[in-house]
Amino acid sequence: MQFENTLAFARKLDRADSLKKFRSLFHLPKVKGKTAIYFTGNSLGLQPKSTKNYLAEELNDWAALGVEGHVHSKRPWLYYHKFTKKGLALLTGAKTSEVVAMNHLTVNLHLLMVSFYRPTKKRFKIITEAGAFSSDQYAFESQVKFHGFEPDNTIIELKPREHEHTLRTEDIVSAIQQHQDELALVIFSGVQYYTGQFFDIQKITQAGHTAGAIVGFDLAHAIGNVNLNLHKHNVDFAVWCSYKYLNTGPGAVAGAFVHERHSKSFDLPRFAGWWGHHEQDRFQMKKGFIPMAGIDGWQLSNHPVLPAAALLASLEIFQQAGLKNLQTKSSLLTGYLEYLLKQIDATGENFIILTPSDKQARGCQLSIYMKQKGKKVFNALTKAGVIADWREPNVIRVAPVPMYNTFEEVYRFSEIFKKALRA
Ligand SMILES: *Cc1c(COP(=O)(O)O)cnc(C)c1O
Repeated sequence: MQFENTLAFARKLDRADSLKKFRSLFHLPKVKGKTAIYFTGNSLGLQPKSTKNYLAEELNDWAALGVEGHVHSKRPWLYYHKFTKKGLALLTGAKTSEVVAMNHLTVNLHLLMVSFYRPTKKRFKIITEAGAFSSDQYAFESQVKFHGFEPDNTIIELKPREHEHTLRTEDIVSAIQQHQDELALVIFSGVQYYTGQFFDIQKITQAGHTAGAIVGFDLAHAIGNVNLNLHKHNVDFAVWCSYKYLNTGPGAVAGAFVHERHSKSFDLPRFAGWWGHHEQDRFQMKKGFIPMAGIDGWQLSNHPVLPAAALLASLEIFQQAGLKNLQTKSSLLTGYLEYLLKQIDATGENFIILTPSDKQARGCQLSIYMKQKGKKVFNALTKAGVIADWREPNVIRVAPVPMYNTFEEVYRFSEIFKKALRA
């Protein structure tokens, strides 16, 4: 599409947007009495108006039924983890038996590493991207030490080539090949939190498997943002949180995926709890853990029904909007932002965009690396009612989310940004 740098053009795109009514399903934060330009759905997604109703249903059932709600509430709490499976499966390209909502992201990462990172003397290394999210780094490091290895010679962190900002798939594949005799686990982000790069999950998984390693992904910034095909792409395991693009609220219940081919691998080591035990005789409280088949066998505790109600509310909206529609709009919305930013600084004198320009290699986030005036521009954005986020040393991350952001907001953001840069 031929973009134009005018407010009228942005408004024309909004009028043609088939998803425009979805914005009204969300609470939009205000700054100084005016609706903010909220470009931080990558950090904490906005609250759907329906979330309150979903929570109220469970609170009312709890009030009216007490413990009987486990069986007699509208959505019986005993089986509540089943109600979000369909929505999660659609978002991840998985079967319902491969996904479940549980715990928090870092907890799930540890639980699945217990099962899928099983280093031997010869095969013990982990390959990942350099600069992974801190919590993931801590998880990798502590798992490695737990098995008696040294993080320094066990965790291989891949960096972009000199003068490049993101990793090339070919370089990831060749690093995997180079270490294939010692490799236990390949684990990457789906979408990298700092650069916004969407890794090639299919090619990385293929290369990892050819090397004889297990392959896992952290989808914190990918789920609800980019197209995922975990089952078809043969990913071994994946984890995510639900408070970013999934709009499920602070501290929301997270989720996990284990591929069907491991569904009956009952010999895998795992840390067990009663909710992973055979459903039929879970309440017999007997000795001897018998895991359920599939990801359900990795559950530990009874389901967090209140946070899960918020997840259910959000998943309903994703199903109504349709992933294809969201991704089509997302590519246009972020493409428009990129076009407008490049018009402000065509030569890259003041800033560069770290995120790949290839639409297949990114979601909705753009990471703007400020060569100068970074903090000043960021503060001016904040003052003008833009909610974006700042990452040290000098990156402004902006994520126009197709579910609730508009082309007019992208246009207005670019005007505010331009003014702040030239001030
Ligand atoms: C947001 C995020 C986390 C946060 O971890 P929690 O366990 O949810 O607190 C971890 N890893 C990545 C890659 C993230 O983007």
